[in-house]
Order: sequence, then structure tokens, then C-alpha cells
Amino acid sequence: MASLGEFDFIGQFLKSQAAQGQPFFDSPLALGIGDDAALVPPLPAGEQMVMATDMLVEGRHYRSDVDPESLGHKVLAVNLSDLAAMGARPVAFTLAAAMRSIDPDWLTAFLKGLFTLARKSQCPLIGGDTVGLNADAPQSFTVTVIGAVPRGKALLRSGLQPGDDLWVSGSLGDAAFAVSRWVPDVKLDWPDPRLALGHRLLGLATAAIDISDGLSAELRHLLAASSTRHSNNLAASLEWQMLPLGPSLRAAVDTQTVTEDRARVFAATGGDEYELLFAAAPSVRDQIAAIGKDLSLTLTRIGCVNTESVASCAIRWSDSQGQPIRAELAAECAQGGFDHFKS
Ligand code: ADP
Ligand code: MG
Repeated sequence: MASLGEFDFIGQFLKSQAAQGQPFFDSPLALGIGDDAALVPPLPAGEQMVMATDMLVEGRHYRSDVDPESLGHKVLAVNLSDLAAMGARPVAFTLAAAMRSIDPDWLTAFLKGLFTLARKSQCPLIGGDTVGLNADAPQSFTVTVIGAVPRGKALLRSGLQPGDDLWVSGSLGDAAFAVSRWVPDVKLDWPDPRLALGHRLLGLATAAIDISDGLSAELRHLLAASSTRHSNNLAASLEWQMLPLGPSLRAAVDTQTVTEDRARVFAATGGDEYELLFAAAPSVRDQIAAIGKDLSLTLTRIGCVNTESVASCAIRWSDSQGQPIRAELAAECAQGGFDHFKS
């Protein structure tokens, strides 16, 4: 096949599919791919705009031999996960693609993953940029997503209150477990952004964050963001046995491939989960349980928030008898989490 250029890519691959099945374009004020910039219709009164950007870089976030369809899905999914963590609904997104060449088969698969999730989430591609790279440069895909949330009602990291319950959606650890064994995993390759849950938590949760870098690291972000709002530092108490293990980890524990403690370290520190970690007052436990039922999504109460006069932002893990877990396990959980410039 003759080699394709940037404009063939935009014209043949993007423009034709971007608007399919997207109510966004029902508005006469909407304009997608093709002009110098896109036009986003005004949001309904009572909503405010939310924006997030996340990039996936070859060699850093994904391997060169990645399934392109899952990569297309994932680059949009990780952005939608940020909207979910704010309680926002998706509006539209842009895509910046830096590629060594335009490979029609690879791109067809990539865009299948991307547009399938875009249609399912009612979040159309409305523009972007495309850059050609040198033969040895790593490729990258960057999505900027626009969302909307009821004015002043977004779920923030800084809202934790002493006494709040801490909850997590879904199950944990399978993505990191898969990475450690170099095997594919649904959780790792096809994350399912928890948009419906985030929306239902508006007005109910006091704080929320999505788990991209590991539960323990994300909880520290919540504690740090919220502590500045309290005279005492906030701390968290978590129950080791309450951590919901993913199905692969469960199976590995059952067949004694990994110990239960090892599995729980994966669950406490593993990244790429895209589940929501959130806090809410004990008085709304029943409402949260009902949301889990409605959405057929497991919601697990894993601990609570308390005040801490000594160490700031501490996370204490205890077993089912209320005793601290072994010090070396707790230390491993405290080290977990990914810092892009420290690892
Ligand atoms: P300009 O250089 O003026 O920004 P471009 O040639 O980059 O124009 O883009 C032409 C049109 O194609 C614009 O509407 C732009 O948003 C869109 N576009 C370019 N690359 C992408 C992409 N990767 N994804 C979506 N839209 C894109
Ligand atoms: Mg451009």
C-alpha cells in the first residue's frame, strides 16, 4: 500500500469516524475536526467545565508490541478515569499523536479501540495534532478530555473529614501482578473508567481519586491534599484483610503460587487500576451499598480517616484482630507508588 501522509490520516481515518453516533454534533454550535480549532457548545446552566490531560509514551507506559486496539482504548480510558474521579460527565476530547509512520493496519486497530470507547462514553474526538517522528523516537499519544460537572460540586482530593469511611471500587492488584509476569490482563489493557460511579457519588463522597499509581500512593495524595484544610494532620487506618483482591491474584493465592500477604501487597501498591478510592461519612453507608448494587460494581469499605498528631499523612494497616500487620509488609506498602522522576 502506498504510504499515507498526515492529511490522509486525518481525512480518511479520523474525520469520517469521529462524529458517528455522537449527540454532541446535534448542536448547531458544535464543530469538530477540520477547521483551525474545534467549537464546544456552551454547557447547560448549572454546570462547569472540567479538563484533564494524560499521555501514553512508548517504552514508558506501553510496550512497542502492544495490541493497538487496547492502546487506543486505554489512552481515552485513563483520561475518562480522571473525569470519573471528579464526578464529571464526558463532553469531548482531542488527540495529539506523535508517530514514526502511518501504518494503516495498526491505526485501524488503534482507532477501533479509541472510537468504540468514545461512542460508548458519548465523548467525541473533536480535534488534535499529528506529528511525524524520526525512526528511533518513541511514539506517544496524548488525550485532552473536556467534561462537565454540576457547578461547585466536583469531587476533590481535599475533602476528607476525620471519621470518614474509605471505600474502593472493584478489585485490586491484578494489573500490577500481570506486569510482574509479563502477561496480558483485562484490567491492565482494557481499563473501564468508573464514570457512572463518580457521577453517583456527587453530593455523597467527601473526596475521591482514581487509582493509577497504586492505592497506598493515592491515599497519601488524599491525606496530603486534605490535611492542609485541617488543624490536625489526617491519617488513615486500613484493614489488610478487607483489600479486595483481583480474580487472578485470588486464583494465584488459591493455587499457592503467591502468598496471601504478597497478593495484598500487589493490591495495596499496584498501579494501572483505574478504580476509584473515595471517602464518605458513615451515615451514608447504605446509600453507597445501594449504588454498588445498582451498578453491579463491588464497593468495599477498607478503612477510615482519623486525626494524627505525630506523623503526617500516615497509613496504618491492621489485621482482622486489629493488630498492626508485620512491619516489613507495612514498609513495602509505604514505599509503593510511582514517581515518574524518582524511579
Ligand atoms: P493546524 O496545523 O492548523 O493545527 P492541522 O493540520 O494540525 O491544522 O489539523 C487539521 C485539522 O485536523 C484540525 O481540525 C485538527 O484538530 C485535526 N487533527 C489533526 N490531527 C489530529 C488528531 N491526531 N486527532 C484529531 N484531530 C486531528
Ligand atoms: Mg496542528
